[in-house]
Amino acid sequence: MPARTGQQYVDGLRAQDREVWLGGERVKDVTTHPGLRNGMRAIAALYDMQHDPELRDEMTYVSPSTGERVGLSFIIPRTKEELERRRTMMLHWARATCGMMGRSPDFMNVTFAAWAGAAAYFARSRPEFGENIRRYHEYIREHDLTLTHSLINLQRSRTVSGAFNLAEDTALRVMRETDAGVVVRGARVLATLGPISDEIAVYSPRLGRFTETHSPFAINFAIPCGTPGLKFLCRESFDLGRSAFDHPLGARFEEMDCVVFFDDVLVPWERVFLLGDVELVNGTGITTHSSMHSAHQGAAKNVAKCEFVLGVALLMTETLGNAHLPHTEERLGELMMYTELMKACMRASEADAELDEWGVMCPAALPVETTRNLFTTAYPRMVEILQLLGSSSFMITPSEADFGGPLAPEIEQYLATDTATARERVKLFRLAWDIAGSAFGSRQVLYERFFASDPLTRARFLNTIYPKGEVIERVSRFLGRSD
Ligand SMILES: Cc1cc2nc3c(=O)[nH]c(=O)nc-3n(C[C@H](O)[C@H](O)[C@H](O)COP(=O)(O)OP(=O)(O)OC[C@H]3O[C@@H](n4cnc5c(N)ncnc54)[C@H](O)[C@@H]3O)c2cc1C
Repeated sequence: MPARTGQQYVDGLRAQDREVWLGGERVKDVTTHPGLRNGMRAIAALYDMQHDPELRDEMTYVSPSTGERVGLSFIIPRTKEELERRRTMMLHWARATCGMMGRSPDFMNVTFAAWAGAAAYFARSRPEFGENIRRYHEYIREHDLTLTHSLINLQRSRTVSGAFNLAEDTALRVMRETDAGVVVRGARVLATLGPISDEIAVYSPRLGRFTETHSPFAINFAIPCGTPGLKFLCRESFDLGRSAFDHPLGARFEEMDCVVFFDDVLVPWERVFLLGDVELVNGTGITTHSSMHSAHQGAAKNVAKCEFVLGVALLMTETLGNAHLPHTEERLGELMMYTELMKACMRASEADAELDEWGVMCPAALPVETTRNLFTTAYPRMVEILQLLGSSSFMITPSEADFGGPLAPEIEQYLATDTATARERVKLFRLAWDIAGSAFGSRQVLYERFFASDPLTRARFLNTIYPKGEVIERVSRFLGRSD
């Protein structure tokens, strides 16, 4: 099957009944639920881009198994050119969502492409697991499926020093093995895009401090979101059901986050990619290099997000007439710096990419991982800069309805600036508020701080991969040390 259209994606969601809970009620149809449908439409629009005649060649490539055109984020890159083509594709999607849908389908596609390229890694556990991961990648590529994922065990307590809490009856664990597969039970966070995905992938990058070699908590698998026993519990929706004027981002890009409960869920054997082996589960991201490939997708999102926030800031200062003030330029300069740093790191990761031991072209680890670490502090700062630039204008934001109400003449007269009508000003600042202040915007800040694990874990990861010897040696030589 070639790359899907948006309608085919929506039909796929409808075809699969799933257990999703939102606001105390079971969602009957995720494609029509007011809290979910607009986010779903945004994802559908991404799929439609694959069929835009002007974009088709940049969004898709020829399937190695069918010869049909399939989504480019499924490619296993073998050359730098393929890596760059993949980035162009991911940038198209990221820019279409203003960088506000971090979990667009390419996020998981690049991970599974990396894993299929490194299938021999999974075969180290059991030969059939290597075949399982290869086949699954082909399956999601040929059906153009959307995946969510949940990596983190819900923590019952954070008092356990130095060990991630794997409390029985809370963390996801294998309960038993049967002829048909393994049965899992427990809770995981945080499946972003869960209700509007076709499948959920479950693995774990951080059983690192679990000391046993074999563990019922160590597992990597993927199953349909409608699998019996699987339950998605949504937070409240930040799509408040208002117009795109009132909530320009929330009314479009709600990707939803869920806790996932696994109530004795059967995972068929062909969907198991690793089982029991703590070392292999822990090492998956680094050894297969899927960590760098997903960081490459994140870098594209960061570039799009930086560009968008910078564009909003520039329009804000133009509208308010304060663009020429030195402290405004200082703040805008900082936003420009983040934007250029993101682009530079992404480019460096491609320029210094190398074929890895699996024969996959891997983005250079340091620059590409830096984009993730930097954004945990850069993005909150970017939002702070918007707040500093906008001040009370964030509060001078009547709703669309007010423009048709009795105070419309006053609004039109007093809210206009030298460069913008009242409507233009309010529309812009409602957008800025959706970045810098609304529930939708606050969740974006939280997302950038934590989506790729907590900042402490990220910093420790960078410490692990950084080649420290060279700089230590340089300083040692300067100090005249002999060894
Ligand atoms: C909006 C959003 C979307 C997300 N989407 C997904 C998703 O799609 N899929 C997915 O798998 N995950 C997702 N995540 C989850 C994310 O992976 C986790 O939030 C992240 O790994 C941090 O785990 P935690 O939330 O349990 O925080 P914690 O581990 O509790 O960390 C909270 C804070 O406590 C500190 N801390 C924790 N333990 C210690 C300790 N022992 N000593 C000192 N300090 C400590 C941390 O440094 C951090 O600052 C998402 C998160 C957010 C916020």
